[in-house]
Amino acid sequence: MSRRAWLVGLTCAVCLAGAVVTLPRLRLLTHAAQYGRARPLRMPVSGLQPREARSSWHAPRSGGRRHEGIDLFAKKGTPVVSATRGEVWRIGTDRLGGNVVTVLGDGPALYYYAHLDDWDDGLYVGRRVEKGTVLGLVGNTGNARTTPPHLHFGVYRVGWWRSGAVDPAPLLGVR
Ligand SMILES: [Zn+2]
Repeated sequence: MSRRAWLVGLTCAVCLAGAVVTLPRLRLLTHAAQYGRARPLRMPVSGLQPREARSSWHAPRSGGRRHEGIDLFAKKGTPVVSATRGEVWRIGTDRLGGNVVTVLGDGPALYYYAHLDDWDDGLYVGRRVEKGTVLGLVGNTGNARTTPPHLHFGVYRVGWWRSGAVDPAPLLGVR
């Protein structure tokens, strides 16, 4: 193969890899642009008071991980509601999170609801939600199989320059 063909091939491969990695991120960033700064959140577990919960943000976890969220304990089957207005970004099953829903909303941020026993019937990707829209039910799917049922709630800031997990506890008034 000539040197030129080699270079063209290499450039294409790099571009393709770049596009595959960047396009979903670009889509996320453009969607996120319609949402404003974070507002106080609604407690995402129906009926739970902030003083009844404890923050487990950054508690040590297996494999040297830190807990990137907080665990809100409640009876199995308790409704899980959206903490913000936004749109359903993802519905799926993760190894650690079990049955999960991700909502893109104010912050702008991705709000991650994990270990659900089940999703709400009316849920679909792209659906607009308000504060308090039911997303699913508290459960113990994923790596919560051996723990009491709880909602794992994570907040991931979305930005061109700054992204990553933020502490949901102060946003919920949990200490
Ligand atoms: Zn957790």
